[in-house]
Amino acid sequence: MDKLKKYNSKRDFKKTKEPVGKVNKSAKKLRFVVQHHLARKDHYDFRLEWNGTLKSWAVPKGPSYNTYDKRLAVMVEDHPLSYRNFEGVIPKGEYGGGTVMVWDEGTWEPQDKIPKNFNIEMLKFTLKGKRLQGRWTLVRFKEDNWLLIKEKDEYNLFRDINRLNKSIKTGRTMKQIENNIALKDNIIEDILITNPEKVIFPSPKVTKLDIALYYHKVAERMMPFLAKRLISTIRAPGGIKGEIFFKKHLETKSKGIKKYRLENDTNKREDYYYIVDSRGLISEVQMNSYEFHIWGSTVGNINKPDMMVFDLDPDEKLNITKIREGVKDLKKILDELGLKSYLKTSGGKGYHVVVPIGHNMSWSVFRQTAKNIALLMEARWPDKYTSNMRKENREGKIFIDWVRNTKGATSVAPYSIRLREKAFVSMPIKWSELDKVKPKDITIEEALKRLKRKDPWEDFFN
Ligand code: ATP
Ligand code: MN
Repeated sequence: MDKLKKYNSKRDFKKTKEPVGKVNKSAKKLRFVVQHHLARKDHYDFRLEWNGTLKSWAVPKGPSYNTYDKRLAVMVEDHPLSYRNFEGVIPKGEYGGGTVMVWDEGTWEPQDKIPKNFNIEMLKFTLKGKRLQGRWTLVRFKEDNWLLIKEKDEYNLFRDINRLNKSIKTGRTMKQIENNIALKDNIIEDILITNPEKVIFPSPKVTKLDIALYYHKVAERMMPFLAKRLISTIRAPGGIKGEIFFKKHLETKSKGIKKYRLENDTNKREDYYYIVDSRGLISEVQMNSYEFHIWGSTVGNINKPDMMVFDLDPDEKLNITKIREGVKDLKKILDELGLKSYLKTSGGKGYHVVVPIGHNMSWSVFRQTAKNIALLMEARWPDKYTSNMRKENREGKIFIDWVRNTKGATSVAPYSIRLREKAFVSMPIKWSELDKVKPKDITIEEALKRLKRKDPWEDFFN
């Protein structure tokens, strides 16, 4: 007979995130778990691994270290082994609807041999958990009603374990579990992501946690371009279908983020900000900033830009071949000028060509240099390119956008996600890939795959 038949029949797995019951092979050491379960009635579920499932009791008052306490433990149906990791919310109206917290976990050993079918009236055992330790007894007194009793041993000192109200697994309180605050200690060090399951891109579905994990994984490649540059970000608290905000001022202090005070044209002070390290990047994601735009200079050298960006913005009627031709023409000119250039997809309509520049030009010289390059293209191929931003000058042409090489202007950072219809990335690619990779070819999945390859911008800062 399937030992988990009862467990499975009580649950609608389309509605609850609890695991589907399957009988597993037992590990060498038998495991146990105690789950605090805030359902219709507050209680603790005491579960011991036995013969591939978890033998389970509901303990209304929870276990006690006081050897005089005899805690009622009502035996309930076996649960699958994987249930020991379940922490979360069971929807209202579903069986056991409420919040489940992993209160203790560890291994256990029976004192005497017990039959496989668990047909016993009394169980003496030792717990090796984090909160529960030492010798315990479960004794059956009537039908499914048992008593859970602490035996006298070196662990029998009275310990007030009812004060322990945080998950042993994730450190969360019941409230934090209910609000779906995931503490991803091992994945993103000490960083709190609220609403990790919130959908940012509906199709294919990309959640806030997916985005946090994406940035966590690309941080090593991305940070050299993002760190210590003033930024503006695009925030989408309700995902791409909701309202979108531009943010260029510091609002909340967080780890890895710093304020930078700057006087603007009208001598008014403004608090800009920059990211210092990957913690700052993830804190920005926590605050719903999913797209990152950077300045062309770093805070240590704010008036000496070091990254020149050309954006090729085509008239909407132009096909991809013409856009690629434009990129090649631009590279030709940059090569002639002895300027090494790097290519990335914009994640939108076109490509960006990025030129590292030693910190020796002022912003005005830098800006004029970028403009001259656009003018050169326009002069050499007047029917193909324009250096003028106005849309009416763009008919059948590509606008070589040099204007963003101005103090205070930004362009999207390499590896940034774009808040477009799908999670496209502005992705560094090799020059030899220009004819193969379209501006919207690189999604976060593809970008993560590409991280395993050699970095196409490896020598950017050399
Ligand atoms: P596409 O290939 O679709 O044209 P793009 O990155 O070239 O993409 P846009 O996203 O339209 O172009 O950006 C145009 C300019 O506006 C860029 O210089 C960009 O940095 C700037 N910009 C975009 N978002 C912000 C923002 N939140 N704050 C400040 N500037 C921004
Ligand atoms: Mn563009």
